[in-house]
Amino acid sequence: MKGVNKVKAVGLLSGGLDSAIAAKLILDQGIEVHAVNISMPWGCGRPSRVVRLAEKLGLCLKTIPLGDDYMPLLTAPKYGFGSAHNPCIDCHIYMVKKAAEYMREIGAAFVFTGEVLGQRPMSQHRKSLNCVEHDAGVTGRLVRPLSAKLMPVTIPEQEGVLDREKLLDLSGRSRSPQLKLAKEFGIEDFSTPGGGCLLTEKLFGERLKDVLKGGCPDIASTAILGVGRYFRLDDSSYVIVARNNSENEKLMKYAMPADIIVRPTTFPGPVALLRSGAVTEEKIAFTAGLAQFYSKSRAQGSMPLTCWMAGEPSKIRNVLAGVVNEADIRKMIL
Ligand code: SF4
Repeated sequence: MKGVNKVKAVGLLSGGLDSAIAAKLILDQGIEVHAVNISMPWGCGRPSRVVRLAEKLGLCLKTIPLGDDYMPLLTAPKYGFGSAHNPCIDCHIYMVKKAAEYMREIGAAFVFTGEVLGQRPMSQHRKSLNCVEHDAGVTGRLVRPLSAKLMPVTIPEQEGVLDREKLLDLSGRSRSPQLKLAKEFGIEDFSTPGGGCLLTEKLFGERLKDVLKGGCPDIASTAILGVGRYFRLDDSSYVIVARNNSENEKLMKYAMPADIIVRPTTFPGPVALLRSGAVTEEKIAFTAGLAQFYSKSRAQGSMPLTCWMAGEPSKIRNVLAGVVNEADIRKMIL
């Protein structure tokens, strides 16, 4: 039936239970649901889970990567931060705006989310839900299927596109009604509330703030901040040292073209990445020293490692590990 003058709706799908239930409630009204997932560069949540959920529910899925237009939310969000560096209200507005753009593009009748009235103290009380609707420019066209009966009647309900009686009246922090519905709907594989958003983690927030002080230009360059051990060298330089193989891979994947990658080849040890506005041989040697320090060869004398600029991987060369003093690096680590 897809495409035969069927009413369309665009729903935000996070991989969590609430947005999946919201999608199911809309689907069950015979509406064609287009899911939008906003993917965070820090690898929050489980993208594969979002794909599986969309497949399970039979939704068309569009993934939209977080853009540089998110940067102002990390520096001065209109509605402030939560307990860490999480601008939840502004973030919801951002996501709903993206969904609304897609709604207009495909001619959908409304946008919906899995928000539940009163579920989260910062972002899901009535006032903040109203702010999201207003600031995202979707007044009357934003539906919260799980709490719809507690909210004002929306335009699609007035137009008869959506049956209010088939929507829910959930509120508060209890997850029991959602878990019961999950069983009923056969939804099994979903993320825990919050979905592992790194912005809600204090340490990640500290790193972000530290990097933003130096005038971080774009969202892509923040991707590595969720990885490894982080050391501030000077105002324009920091080093990240991986803690395991998976982080070795991530550091190399998220490196920007001007980053220096250091990797041990003559002994087992971690990848380290130097990001600096003023790269010097001394800083590269120190980065190599950090990589050796966090290997089993810490007690050996200075060892040779390889290094290259991420944007020029063919220009690989050797570097001798610089001397690293444990007391000094304890002061640099974040
Ligand atoms: S928890 Fe993270 S992804 Fe969710 S609204 Fe807050 S900042 Fe955005």
